[in-house]
Amino acid sequence: MPWRPPLGPWQATTALVLLAGSPARADQPFQTKGVFTPGGLVAVTLPSGARDFQVNGVPVPEAAAGVHLLGFGRDETGTVRLSARAADGTRLATAIPLAPRSFRIERLPALGTTDTPAPEWVARREREIARTVLAKAVAVARPTDAAGWQGPFVLPVAGRITGVYGSQRIFGTLARNPHWGLDIAAPRGTLVRAPAPGIVRLADGPFLIEGNLVLLDHGAGLVSLYAHLDDIRVRPGDTLEAGDPVGTVGTTGRSTGPHLHWGLSLLRPAATATAYREIRLDPALLLEPAVQP
Ligand SMILES: [Zn+2]
Repeated sequence: MPWRPPLGPWQATTALVLLAGSPARADQPFQTKGVFTPGGLVAVTLPSGARDFQVNGVPVPEAAAGVHLLGFGRDETGTVRLSARAADGTRLATAIPLAPRSFRIERLPALGTTDTPAPEWVARREREIARTVLAKAVAVARPTDAAGWQGPFVLPVAGRITGVYGSQRIFGTLARNPHWGLDIAAPRGTLVRAPAPGIVRLADGPFLIEGNLVLLDHGAGLVSLYAHLDDIRVRPGDTLEAGDPVGTVGTTGRSTGPHLHWGLSLLRPAATATAYREIRLDPALLLEPAVQP
């Protein structure tokens, strides 16, 4: 039976534009696609001829002509102020509150022992992180190589959701990193498919934590990660269409059973040592209907 995408496109919404100038422009709102909530990815389309788009007073790079991609981190709150200059010079502005959401926090007793990783482990992990950083820096430097960010996005593998974005374990006062992705349990060997078109920037392993991993660049700074793969079916530089095989489900790296860890990030150019700022997003928000564990 041919494979068919199990899920549909982004939610479409239209933001109301509050005008600083003439109300005659009320018929030209910013078009938005996506969810204004922590972990959400939103595409904003400007009215024809508008420019100088800013979010909370900060310019945002264009993903395509007149289209800008926004991402909201797990702990962001408050109101998002969007503004631009219309073709006739008037200022367009709107304010959209981020819909609050809560994350599963597990509070557990303090760990009796503090295990310090061996120096060899730390050194190897540093090399792995350096390779990931380099691959992401390439994605940031080449934002027009792929247009998969436009979606639609499909679930890369069918299965039971066993881990959700943003959940966190706290042992005593020691907070572990939040879970940056969606875990989907499926039998070992099940094909993992590209959820949207992209270019493979990294395909290697096993890494200590991610096991065999693939990093897929969807363009405009949007990248996705597939971890704990049994088998990798792509090579760096490969161009994939939605539905193309990436690899197979496995339990390599730090994993307790066969599952896919699917991560999603929006990378923004930055004047830092790594040359980008990473906004970790919730892949589940790209899918419709929304998936629930
Ligand atoms: Zn995971």
